[in-house]
Amino acid sequence: MENLFLHPIRVLRDNYVWLVATTAGDAVLVDPGEAAPVLAVLQERRLRLRSILLTHHHPDHIGGVAGILAEFDAQVIAPRDPRIPCANRHVDDASRIGIPGTELEFMAIHVPGHTSTHVAYHGHGLLFCGDTLFSVGCGRLFEGTPQQMLDSLSKLAALAADTKVCCGHEYTESNCAFALGLEPGNSRLQQRAAQVAHLRAAGLPSLPSTLADEMDCNPFLRTDSAEIRASLSRDLPEDASPVEVFAAVRALKDAF
Ligand code: ZN
Ligand code: FE
Repeated sequence: MENLFLHPIRVLRDNYVWLVATTAGDAVLVDPGEAAPVLAVLQERRLRLRSILLTHHHPDHIGGVAGILAEFDAQVIAPRDPRIPCANRHVDDASRIGIPGTELEFMAIHVPGHTSTHVAYHGHGLLFCGDTLFSVGCGRLFEGTPQQMLDSLSKLAALAADTKVCCGHEYTESNCAFALGLEPGNSRLQQRAAQVAHLRAAGLPSLPSTLADEMDCNPFLRTDSAEIRASLSRDLPEDASPVEVFAAVRALKDAF
């Protein structure tokens, strides 16, 4: 059971579709933005697709569902949102999702900020966080406030430190470049940036990371870092609140 196979399938420009498979050959997909590359992996590994988990309505996360359902009869789980018409089962915050024919179970966590209905899925030491938490970054605030996103990230950061963080995009290398500008003296961040450069030069994913890595390196989870606060001191008072620091970092990143 804990011998799960976890594999990021690269689709579109820089998206990852996450595949989880049991040793018995049952599979779950997260956020299939495209069908063909995913179907190729499922067929090559002779997997039985049981469920598709969707984090949010953006086309680069749901665009492959119809094409996959043409080949597999899987349940499609998503937050309640009319913009995700392909879903046949809905989750709310703290909903538990059992995957049919397996002992796999995931819990939905409502994480508004990037979109209003965005959810993450957590189970078996894995966190599928879509476009909410990126490695060394976070999603843009299309439909939420800085306070909502900070609260959402805090929920995720409260999970176990060894949780594997499975994000929706390969953005880590540029995120590290941005983060080093704010916190050049962070030695863990320097190490992560070097590791990521090495992985990407070899054509390998920088993901999954762990929550421990993110706590050490991700500026959006480090609003009390003295060095980040000093870097922002032209724009922020010394006693700025965490959400003020978060909003300032997000604004700088939007312009990066
Ligand atoms: Zn998105
Ligand atoms: Fe996306």
